[in-house]
Amino acid sequence: MPGKQLVVFDFDWSFVDQDTDRWVFEVLSTELRRLLQDRKSSGTGMQCTPDVVNDTMKDLYEKGFKKEDVLGALRILPFHPAMRRAVMSLQSRSEDTTFLCLSNSNEIYIGTILEKHGLASLFSEIITNPAHWNPSSPDHLIIGRRLPASEPPHGCSVGCLANMCKGDELDTYLASKGGKDSFDKIVYVGDGGNDFCPLLRMRKGDLALVRKGLELDTRVKEEGGKSGLKVDVKYWDQAWQIDE
Ligand SMILES: [Mg+2]
Ligand SMILES: [Zn+2]
Repeated sequence: MPGKQLVVFDFDWSFVDQDTDRWVFEVLSTELRRLLQDRKSSGTGMQCTPDVVNDTMKDLYEKGFKKEDVLGALRILPFHPAMRRAVMSLQSRSEDTTFLCLSNSNEIYIGTILEKHGLASLFSEIITNPAHWNPSSPDHLIIGRRLPASEPPHGCSVGCLANMCKGDELDTYLASKGGKDSFDKIVYVGDGGNDFCPLLRMRKGDLALVRKGLELDTRVKEEGGKSGLKVDVKYWDQAWQIDE
């Protein structure tokens, strides 16, 4: 593949075959998995994801679950061997490819999963929500927002949640690397409604790999035309197709 290339991965249901936020509770507690769902859909149904995950992690801690329980759940999260093969082989074939992770999960979840699969050094940068183990109660994971509530809102009107505008994050990253045109090609692998915004920042000739049948697929089809989407789109279903 000629030229300098940036490959951007969403994480949940894109790089891995699960939703990291839901999975930890699904593995450890049905009651808390239900509570997460109720919190997420309460009010406007647009509750900020890291906020509700943070609240539910506190409940998990208070129920007596340990750091190792959370890490253990993450280590068994479904990750397709073909996705590993795809990125390892692209990395070895093309020195000019940079991998970026752009995710609404959090640092601890993503770091634990990448480490488990020997991919801790794959991404040149991981843009996601901050997380840390509470120093005074080390089994309690605290998750914050990428854009703190104390900062001015990002003002995105495409539908990004309050904690992160993925389009702005991509633009900021590109600006820090010398601008969009310092990459000959940008490839974006995504599935979610919040992956639509960064796709709008991409050029004709860039490539969006959109997972079939999920929210991004619907948005590209329903809103792509009127939103002026320029990027080329290919659809995929399973990780082996990403390898292809
Ligand atoms: Mg996703
Ligand atoms: Zn946005």
